[in-house]
Amino acid sequence: MLALKISVHHCLHHAGLTAALDAQAQTKIQAGHDDLPLDPLVRPYGRSGLVGTGHRQRGRSARIEARNPKQHTRRSDGQDTALHDAKLYTWARSLRPIVNPIVYAIPVFMATIAMEAWLAHRRRIATYDVADAITSLHFGVLSQVSAVFVRALTLGVYVLVFEHLRLFTLSVNSVWVWLGALIAYDFIYYWVHRFGHETHVMWAAHQVHHSSEYFNLSTALRQTSTGAFASFPFYLPMALLGVPPMVFGAVALIDLLYQYWVHTELVRKLGWVDRVFVTPSNHRVHHGQNDYCIDRNYGGIFILWDRLFGTFVEERDDEPVIYGIRKPLASYNPLWGNLHVYRDLGRRMAASSSLWSALRAVFARPTSSPAQRDTFDPQSFKRYAPPMTSATRAYAVVQYALLIAPTTHFIAVAPALTLGEQGVYALIILVWTVGVGWVLEGRRHARVFEWLRVGGTTAALLLMPSWFGWSADASVELMITAIALGSLRLIHSR
Ligand SMILES: [Zn+2]
Ligand SMILES: [Zn+2]
Repeated sequence: MLALKISVHHCLHHAGLTAALDAQAQTKIQAGHDDLPLDPLVRPYGRSGLVGTGHRQRGRSARIEARNPKQHTRRSDGQDTALHDAKLYTWARSLRPIVNPIVYAIPVFMATIAMEAWLAHRRRIATYDVADAITSLHFGVLSQVSAVFVRALTLGVYVLVFEHLRLFTLSVNSVWVWLGALIAYDFIYYWVHRFGHETHVMWAAHQVHHSSEYFNLSTALRQTSTGAFASFPFYLPMALLGVPPMVFGAVALIDLLYQYWVHTELVRKLGWVDRVFVTPSNHRVHHGQNDYCIDRNYGGIFILWDRLFGTFVEERDDEPVIYGIRKPLASYNPLWGNLHVYRDLGRRMAASSSLWSALRAVFARPTSSPAQRDTFDPQSFKRYAPPMTSATRAYAVVQYALLIAPTTHFIAVAPALTLGEQGVYALIILVWTVGVGWVLEGRRHARVFEWLRVGGTTAALLLMPSWFGWSADASVELMITAIALGSLRLIHSR
């Protein structure tokens, strides 16, 4: 039960819901429970950062408590208050795990990707390309970083609808509620995903996931940074039906994590399983740009939805799947990768003859756009592969290995940072991914840009009293600086 409670809390936190609860707990701490241990990841940031966050989101009761310390003390006499304090302590402690579960998933992702790449290499399957995989991981980083900002809105609306408009009250303790919520979520996911392919504006967000011309576990992490705005209203009926936010957050996470393993070429067909669940075989089809693959196999966990609504197709043995989007991204810049179809949509709207047709373009099928080729010839397809040296690839790998630390740190401590600090930190990470992308593309000024970026970032690390709350020994900081600056040599070797 405890394990379930902890994992539920983690899921909830992943969904950003515990930020407010954490803030409340912090306010309680401020109001006289200073003995609570702080999270080790947050501690170096100091009390001020925590209180700052708590202050913004402080609830009414906590405000009264803080304002009337005398009253609080008076209540503090006797057994009642001892019990009250003990409960409060237990409650605040139960809210302690402040870390987003994605933080724990990152090492698992990295290990399984390395394992898949090694197995593919042994079996001589060309399923990985370093530049493509690093770019996929960059998309994943940006998607998690942007989620910190977006989730506050999307889940905030979910909680509001749940609290004020729900028709039923469903119990968190019922296994049927959990099962029903998972099936309901997966059903809505099918439709959200389908609209993501069949309407231009939602395709603009979702195409990120399809923009790789390879198909491997790193492709699973190639996620959009703009998708949540359009997709979250579709899930609000679950709030209306009374699915508790905690259950919703957890099943959303389960649905997302399930889809990780299906992005691989190493698992071939699985018989009946391919016709009930989403599997590597039927998901390969979903990522294909061959004619028979377009707009097929939308499911998240169950492929049954596709069979029910007529979008299912089995993987063919006679025609290898060619992955990617028909208007190729042809770039390693993850910022551009998130925006390029919005630009196409904007152009299409600007070229419309009336306001009505401009509006229609937003919801029209992306394939009807003139820029999109209607048929596809697998024979003439060529993957995007600008010339690059293996030293350049090594540079991208080193820079990504370094980037894991600030990304994980950002996700972990974001709730304790101010909005301004979050913005600056997110910008550093964004510029990092774009700079490395430009180097991989062989852009003219990419090297100068990287010298300035790496120089600036390491100078900030060395000179700032603490790196967004993290401070290490000077020797550690110097070692990181030496690796980062030393790796710059790689982009100059031929
Ligand atoms: Zn898709
Ligand atoms: Zn996929």
